[in-house]
Amino acid sequence: MDDKIRLGVSSCLLGNNVRYDGGHQHDRFLTDTLGRYVEYIPVCPEVECGLTVPREAMRLVGNPADPRLVTRKSNIDYTDQMKKWASVRLDELAREKLDGFVFKRMSPSSGMARVKVYSESGMANTNGIGIFARLFMEYFPHLPVEEDGRLNDPVLRENFIQRIFVHRRWRELVATAKKRGGLVDFHTTHKLLLLSHSEKEYREMGRLVAKAKDLSIEELFSRYEALLMSALAKKSTNRKHTNVLTHVFGYFKNDLSPLEKQEVLDVIDQYHQGMIPLIVPLTLMKFFTKKFKQEYLANQHYLDPHPLELKLLNHA
Ligand code: SF4
Repeated sequence: MDDKIRLGVSSCLLGNNVRYDGGHQHDRFLTDTLGRYVEYIPVCPEVECGLTVPREAMRLVGNPADPRLVTRKSNIDYTDQMKKWASVRLDELAREKLDGFVFKRMSPSSGMARVKVYSESGMANTNGIGIFARLFMEYFPHLPVEEDGRLNDPVLRENFIQRIFVHRRWRELVATAKKRGGLVDFHTTHKLLLLSHSEKEYREMGRLVAKAKDLSIEELFSRYEALLMSALAKKSTNRKHTNVLTHVFGYFKNDLSPLEKQEVLDVIDQYHQGMIPLIVPLTLMKFFTKKFKQEYLANQHYLDPHPLELKLLNHA
């Protein structure tokens, strides 16, 4: 892939001094580690909709399903101002061809979940979504989204990074080979990766690809994309990975000596028991894939989902 993954991001996470108090919330993982593979498109809804730095802090009030954005002390309502700005900005972001978005957690503008919404009496409900984050997710229902706090969880971090890498490949396919044959190749090379998320959706995608000739290209790609992103949003689990690893083992088990066979099965079992991280059996599978020149496996993104430098898949 010649151009980078394109991620929208809450601007303060990049270290920009756009917060209400003039500060930032610099996230080093985003800039120093993930930043090597990503081009960021920073968005600060509060500043871009016309508010100053510094400014009075804000909060959500009213109905958690449709709250208002108001200043904490003077009670000025900026909901309409932000929504008007967002209607233009979202169209611009659509032209940016994003692969995902990282939101600042808990923000009344940018938080994607569990944002406090206050009632008239001052009681807080924690089911809110920031005004801009909600509009963004409605506008881009299939785009991978996460927030900075959740990215500290290794499983959620891996899942998000895997999704943005897949989305980047999907975007490239749509831009360069939006044809039935291109879709078949994409589906084939993502088989094991998809199975590690959702066998049910993988099968459904297979049925869709099988009747590709009956659908227009637009409908085919649109339906496949919805299933793809929905499948990837389902968390991989130890059990799903164990099934996929056992499936991979089947490709070269007849080429292995009894000792090698037992060694691979032991490693898969140790992973299954939670004693070793996924990177160990994956590395072993990659070795045998190369040794036995298994072209089909060599093309599977499952065995090479993202750069090693991101140090993912390293937890038991
Ligand atoms: S959380 Fe969102 S609105 Fe607040 S400073 Fe960061 S980018 Fe701006």
